Amino acid sequence: MNCPVCGSGPLKKGRPLGSGALHACQSCTARFISPQPTDAELKDIYGEGYYGSWGLAGGREHEALKAMKTATFGLRLDLISRYRAGGNILDVGCATGFFMEAAEKRGFRAYGVEISDYSSAAAREKFGGERVHHGVIEDCPFPDGHFDVIAMSDLLEHVRDPLRALSAARRLLRNDGAIMIMTPDTDSLTARIMGRRWTHYKPEHLFYFNRRSLSLLAEKCGFEAVHFAAAKKAMNLEYLRTQFAAYPHPLLTPASALLAGMLPSGMRSGNFFLTMGEMTAVLRPSR
Ligand SMILES: [Zn+2]
Repeated sequence: MNCPVCGSGPLKKGRPLGSGALHACQSCTARFISPQPTDAELKDIYGEGYYGSWGLAGGREHEALKAMKTATFGLRLDLISRYRAGGNILDVGCATGFFMEAAEKRGFRAYGVEISDYSSAAAREKFGGERVHHGVIEDCPFPDGHFDVIAMSDLLEHVRDPLRALSAARRLLRNDGAIMIMTPDTDSLTARIMGRRWTHYKPEHLFYFNRRSLSLLAEKCGFEAVHFAAAKKAMNLEYLRTQFAAYPHPLLTPASALLAGMLPSGMRSGNFFLTMGEMTAVLRPSR
């Protein structure tokens, strides 16, 4: 087996993870799960429970999550607006269309791609079927060069083939466009501190990058990385409580439930900003 990012190696096998084991490429430093889960296994992971943990299935977390997402998306759009102001933007992995809504408020015309039946149907209801593709970026029907900006937040770590996904993005992007990526960073402080127990190591996260391996991936797909930073995310206690309920932790699950129970709801849903081991990157076409 060769590294699916750089095509070379050697590979070092690490901890068991989901359907296989975490592998680290000693050449480009990319990490990935091999063998990958089957389609049926992924479908199980991304079932209704998965979206429940993200508050997308409705319920009382919904408003807290929406406030938090809106604040986080504001940061991403600030970054994007350094490179492009307005035009067509494609959100890959658009879920129910929160980011699309935020982008429209900033003057972009928003489009989306979403693989989940449930979420894509919700986004289609908001934006119309012609603007939201139910599927993956490789098979989306938009014309070549249609987009000024493509956003990939929490996306690249989930796809089966990052090279194919980013190459498809290159085709859809104008030659003077920009891609904004947010993905876990294996060189981040939390990754270094937590080691093999890093919270981003999940069975559905098939790939893990750092600045070096993401730059290499970008180069192979016709891009140059022009910006890297630690990604800030808005958080609130209501969201943390939901996350720790979905991904139990012996100490933090009861602690977050206790704290959320003690605070008035206004404080529970008030946002604060954290870096959680992720990075933002901006790529621009090199050819
Ligand atoms: Zn490699």
